[in-house]
Amino acid sequence: MNAHDSEKVVGTLLAQGYAQVETVEAAELVLYNTCSIRDKAEQKVFNRLQNFKREAGKGKVFGVLGCVAQQEGEKIFDRAPHVSLVAGSASYPRLGEMLVQLEAGNRRVTGLSLDTEETFDTPFTRRDNPHRAYITIIEGCDKSCAYCVVPFTRGPERSRTSESVMAEARGLAEKGYTDIQLLGQNVNSYRDPSPAGWDFAALIAHVAEIPGIRRVRYTTSHPRDFIKAIVDAMDANPVICDHVHLPVQSGSTRVLAAMDRLYTRDEYMRRIEWLKNAKRNYSLTTDIIVGFPGETDEDFQQTLDLMDEVQYASLFSFKYSPRPNTSAILMEDRISEEEKQRRLVIVQERQRAIQIRHNAKLVGGIQEVMVEGRNHALGQWIGRTSCNRTLNFTHTGQDGADLAGTYLPVRVTRSGPNSLVGESVTVV
Ligand code: SAM
Ligand code: SF4
Repeated sequence: MNAHDSEKVVGTLLAQGYAQVETVEAAELVLYNTCSIRDKAEQKVFNRLQNFKREAGKGKVFGVLGCVAQQEGEKIFDRAPHVSLVAGSASYPRLGEMLVQLEAGNRRVTGLSLDTEETFDTPFTRRDNPHRAYITIIEGCDKSCAYCVVPFTRGPERSRTSESVMAEARGLAEKGYTDIQLLGQNVNSYRDPSPAGWDFAALIAHVAEIPGIRRVRYTTSHPRDFIKAIVDAMDANPVICDHVHLPVQSGSTRVLAAMDRLYTRDEYMRRIEWLKNAKRNYSLTTDIIVGFPGETDEDFQQTLDLMDEVQYASLFSFKYSPRPNTSAILMEDRISEEEKQRRLVIVQERQRAIQIRHNAKLVGGIQEVMVEGRNHALGQWIGRTSCNRTLNFTHTGQDGADLAGTYLPVRVTRSGPNSLVGESVTVV
């Protein structure tokens, strides 16, 4: 989502007559897009700002965008006095106006209001990838998970109209994009604000029918809002990829309640059952937080048991990081850093073993990949399967042909914990 925000910001700057340069040294304006989901990410920003100051020297204008900007606000001007712009993502629709103020010499420009119903739809998005495009369908978040800073940094939920999402997706298909990824902090709570009134299931079904679009993905889903109609829409059209990212956070209903996640372990598992009993084989991935305040050994064991039960194709695991403004910051029974690290390693080792078994089952089969690029050193092409695995493969076709962006059937010949290896096949 941050990467796509940057694409929109860059597009807006280009449309205002700015040019993009390769290095910080060559830039007159340096914007730093930031993440504050965990403390580590936030610390990086301030280290980087210090380095910028040292390396970049005089004469440049600096801006901090994104979640750290929203969270720290005007304090950033005190902590890093060389910064002239501080703006959170909810203010990006006003970016053009803020740039005009910067050009006029204002050295304390801010965009920090969260009181907005607007989304940052820009016709100027400068996309980094010529084949796969991100489309934001919903911004902000109305949930209040006890550990999470997002509702404070990205503002309230705002869905785009289905007309504007469809127009953007059709436009992209006309330009040759074939792979669309729909984005939102919680895509399933998408509600079309226009009279058509589509829900998320209707939206993915319609996007998948656009001529030229071969793959549709979406992220992230909140389990509470992940309804059966979404599985039905996926089953009905294989253009919607064989992959669902459904963050569970913990396998313990007690911890889920303390996190204010709005579902129990059983309710989560019901959604997994819908996916396991569906017409297609879906690859499932998740996010897990270890060491949430009060997480006992028994709670943690329940997370490991859930991983064994679901058999995720991959997962992101995090040590709980206390964040400002969130309710969990006041909770007692903090888990020590050492214990969090111990639990993180156990999760990662358990998952590695699951992935080795999982990926080994794909050996011998044929997967369609979208070619993403080439690994010249290994003489392999890099592809991505519908189930979101990386499949590196050899291809004995015309030498020198650029396969990037094409779709090819590839036979899987070997597997590792994080990727697959194969060779392209000719299907008769
Ligand atoms: N909206 C998504 C959801 O509800 O699942 C998640 C969005 S969040 C940007 C991505 C992931 O970061 C979360 O799923 C969670 O696992 C992790 N995360 C968020 N806040 C965290 C915190 N304070 N400490 C550790 N991990 C955190
Ligand atoms: Fe954060 Fe929860 Fe909203 Fe996801 S649903 S962005 S974890 S508050």
